[in-house]
Amino acid sequence: MKSRYKKLRLLLGDQLNIQHSWFSRKDQSVLYVLMEIRTETDYVWHHIQKACAFFAAMEGFAKMLNDNGHDALYLTLDDPANLQSFSANCDALIEKYGIESFEYQLPDEYRLDEELKGYCGTLKMHAQVYDTEHFYTTRDELGTFFSGKKGLLMENFYREMRKKHNVLMDGKEPTGGQWNFDEDNRKKLPKNHHPYPPLLFDNSVQAQYDRIRNAGIETIGTIDPQHLYWPVNREQALKLLSYFTENCLPLFGTFQDAMHTDEWSVYHSRLSFSMNTKMLSPKEVIEAAIGAWEQNRKAIAINQLEGFVRQILGWREYMRGIYWLKMPGFEMLNYFEHHRKLPDWYWTGKTKMNCLQHSIGQSLNHAYAHHIQRLMITGNFALLAGIKPDEVDFWYLGIYIDAIQWVEITNTRGMSQYADGGLIGSKPYTASANYIHKQSNYCDNCHYDRTARTGENSCPFNSLYWDFHDRHRDKLSKNIRLSMVYRLWDKLTRVDREAILLRANFCLENLEEL
Ligand SMILES: Cc1cc2nc3c(=O)[nH]c(=O)nc-3n(C[C@H](O)[C@H](O)[C@H](O)COP(=O)(O)OP(=O)(O)OC[C@H]3O[C@@H](n4cnc5c(N)ncnc54)[C@H](O)[C@@H]3O)c2cc1C
Ligand code: SF4
Repeated sequence: MKSRYKKLRLLLGDQLNIQHSWFSRKDQSVLYVLMEIRTETDYVWHHIQKACAFFAAMEGFAKMLNDNGHDALYLTLDDPANLQSFSANCDALIEKYGIESFEYQLPDEYRLDEELKGYCGTLKMHAQVYDTEHFYTTRDELGTFFSGKKGLLMENFYREMRKKHNVLMDGKEPTGGQWNFDEDNRKKLPKNHHPYPPLLFDNSVQAQYDRIRNAGIETIGTIDPQHLYWPVNREQALKLLSYFTENCLPLFGTFQDAMHTDEWSVYHSRLSFSMNTKMLSPKEVIEAAIGAWEQNRKAIAINQLEGFVRQILGWREYMRGIYWLKMPGFEMLNYFEHHRKLPDWYWTGKTKMNCLQHSIGQSLNHAYAHHIQRLMITGNFALLAGIKPDEVDFWYLGIYIDAIQWVEITNTRGMSQYADGGLIGSKPYTASANYIHKQSNYCDNCHYDRTARTGENSCPFNSLYWDFHDRHRDKLSKNIRLSMVYRLWDKLTRVDREAILLRANFCLENLEEL
């Protein structure tokens, strides 16, 4: 069929960047397409809130393009014309409209990058790929920065980014005289201290929900489809950003590592979904935070601001760089050769361990847990228990609202499971009940005794912590940052060590019952 469309531009679900140069000009010969397809809904068990939020944000984005005078086609899951894959749908549209060229933006996921490169190879027409114009860095910038240097230390990369983009710099010196204020950022929530409640929106995603259910797609977690509280458009994302800078930023750093049974987001921004879908750019988020600090230096101390900037300009860009440097091999890494199955209670939260019950419970209820819950509760336990990294990745890639492989796998397999043998972390992130108690109130009402290492009621983290280090002595004992751990272990009597390992063995044999 002859039509006015000459060019097909594919937009992926995490490419909702209205500030992209593509949209600065209206071109009647361009047809944009976004699609809900089974290849994207089925590669993992997504949280139902995540699936609905993505579809609602995509659909809203297509509508906004049309309202702004562009031509956008939105293929719903149940559209009879939907062939349920990017290539099949694009082929059909090319044929239907007599399209003469195909364009897309660089996918953030290796899987899709390969798929679309392959697809372009099959086309007998001009095909072109564009940058997403979202990140501070290009895909290969981290690799170039570390080339010829020893190690891949995040701190070095972060400082370079600060200088390069002139973020929190006074000339050549870091603002506040220090690059890093992490030391000030490890407080537990005091008794009777109530953080600002999270800002919640009220979106009906009933239509998206019904399509997902009618298609029989397997999902996890809970939802009220009449009241989805995640932002699904740029306007809401900007509101969430303002709410954060006004209310949460003043204490963000101080309580960054704090966990509490009554608080599911503490002072965290909950901006990851808005950024990962590109409704917000990292630059505007950082600029908003710096702007708030400049206007109110009395309320927002530099450690609060720096802690936040570090997460985005440092960790987020760093993880993306590592991903493109190390994929596809990264998905196969399993340094400790862990092969145990993920306990079933990761999918239900039904465990007697209070910290895990809460962290998993809130993940199922809100599709969200903050960084320390992900790293030091669910991740820490999986590592100590020797769970297979594939299983751990599968869980993290599905359950969180912000989970997209480039940032999920680097955090999970790398930072949290140390399956990369120390590429990202200089030592494994492991902890016993001591740390969990220091940062939270979880242990106060737990079935287990946080102070005991042996015995029926002893906290499983305590024996598993030592068992992990004992088990992997050959791989870890030369790490200078762990010398204290091994010194303490060796100081225990043989009888004590055996009793701890016996308890750990019991826990490992009975993971499902813990
Ligand atoms: C095991 C594990 C899995 C994770 N999986 C994901 C994931 O799938 N998607 C994801 O976006 N983040 C992931 N993270 C990183 C981090 O936990 C989340 O970005 C953060 O919890 C999101 O909540 P927030 O927006 O309230 O973050 P805040 O605490 O408010 O931080 C602000 C922003 O900084 C960025 N950020 C903070 N820490 C990191 C980090 N380590 N890596 C990259 N960006 C960071 C995020 O964009 C975040 O929105 C994971 C961390 C761990 C330990
Ligand atoms: S006692 Fe152990 S299992 Fe219970 S909450 Fe504390 S760390 Fe978690």
